[in-house]
Amino acid sequence: MKSEAHKVVIVGGGAGGLELAAKLGRKFGPQHVYLVDKAGDHIWKPSLHEVAAGTLDIHREGLSYFMLAKDCGFTFIFGEVAHVDRDSRLIQLKPVFSDQQVEVFPARNLHYDTLVLAVGSKSNFFGTPGASEFAIALDSTAEAERFRLRFLHELVTANKKKTEHADYVLNVGIVGGGATGVELAAELREACADAVFYGLNSLDTHNDIQITLLEGSDRILSALPEKMSSAAQELLLERGITVKTSVRVARVEADALYDAQGTRYPVDLCVWAAGIEAPAFLTQLRLDTNRINQLVVDRQLRTSDPAVFAMGDCAQTPWDAEGQFLPARAQVAHQQADFLLPIMAARMQGKDIGSRRFRFKDYGSLVSVGHSRGIGSLMGVLQGKSWFVEGLLARLMYMSLHLMHHMAVLGFVRTGSLALGRLLTKRAAPRVKLH
Ligand SMILES: Cc1cc2nc3c(=O)[nH]c(=O)nc-3n(C[C@H](O)[C@H](O)[C@H](O)COP(=O)(O)OP(=O)(O)OC[C@H]3O[C@@H](n4cnc5c(N)ncnc54)[C@H](O)[C@@H]3O)c2cc1C
Repeated sequence: MKSEAHKVVIVGGGAGGLELAAKLGRKFGPQHVYLVDKAGDHIWKPSLHEVAAGTLDIHREGLSYFMLAKDCGFTFIFGEVAHVDRDSRLIQLKPVFSDQQVEVFPARNLHYDTLVLAVGSKSNFFGTPGASEFAIALDSTAEAERFRLRFLHELVTANKKKTEHADYVLNVGIVGGGATGVELAAELREACADAVFYGLNSLDTHNDIQITLLEGSDRILSALPEKMSSAAQELLLERGITVKTSVRVARVEADALYDAQGTRYPVDLCVWAAGIEAPAFLTQLRLDTNRINQLVVDRQLRTSDPAVFAMGDCAQTPWDAEGQFLPARAQVAHQQADFLLPIMAARMQGKDIGSRRFRFKDYGSLVSVGHSRGIGSLMGVLQGKSWFVEGLLARLMYMSLHLMHHMAVLGFVRTGSLALGRLLTKRAAPRVKLH
């Protein structure tokens, strides 16, 4: 039933949607601001490679949406959106089941006056045979955790085999040399060393665990400046990671990857990080979408329906340059959340949304290459100038992005307490999650 208060419903509590919900909730309260997510806990998606490697524990890192809703003044609805009936302004939620397949919440409808779709993206397998079946994509905490358990299992098995047969090698293949693939490769190498430190000491991390990164274009981090690609490649090689460029994976099988020429790359464990697409249900809403299911939005982040906005990875947003669209990055989602704040406020107050247009400020890119190293290219205030940063400084800057996200959601004092708490508990926890 339609209520009196103007309801803004945000679907997707990720890097962008949660920041918007928290900021709006603090101003307008839970009768006006609703957040829907299919997960019960929030984790900043750029940390998923750390969850996958076991260097970040989801059970410590995850923030409960129910807690965030109470603290920030929005209403949280747990459930996965299956469809949006735009004529009746209703979103349709699938029922929620427990692990034991008991129905926890039935299928529900939720009315909105303004809808913001912030459902992010998932890996795009580009129809590659065997990819969805045999490769793991780091799309959610559940998948990152599934990878972690498989990886741990493979390490234990390799350690056992190594004590029996001296010539065993564990092969990990990563398809896609973008930021996700590069960060994961480096993180896995450190996690291997940690696992050996904690007792899998029949393994020689460099010789017995082969990590191979396969990239289709002629350099890794191809969307970033060339200097970053060569620095990242050097750091990966230093860590004993094999990097193969201009290799397009054409088929995935349980124990190997094959390129278009039929070359075989043996794998015991494979991660797919070679491109993204938005969730398929977006194509069923009778709104304009592109070939990767992203909703086409204007510079006010509006779809062709004036009551429906889209942001972050699930939106195709025009960039300044002619015919270019914004990249799928946390920085974009963060800035779009800030941009939508006054627009949503105006809609709730029944005012005109004005003519302000979204302009992305590119502050550069940072890529983490393990726990103590990073590389980055920072854009200066003066247009066209950029600085290359590397080492611990780049890694600290990378970590500060995560803190800034927490700050936008939790505020300064709670972020500080959380960071301090985690720093202290780190001393009592293993460097890599072992269970
Ligand atoms: C491993 C990894 C490393 C990355 N590293 C970086 C980096 O270093 N720098 C950078 O800028 N970007 C990085 N990215 C990309 C960055 O994470 C995304 O660009 C950013 O998270 C997009 O934010 P978003 O709000 O659009 O979506 P997301 O943060 O993906 O959030 C989407 C939310 O929607 C929810 N959802 C999805 N479908 C539904 C549904 N049907 N119903 C209800 N809820 C739904 C999901 O549960 C999720 O909470 C990385 C991504 C990955 C996977």
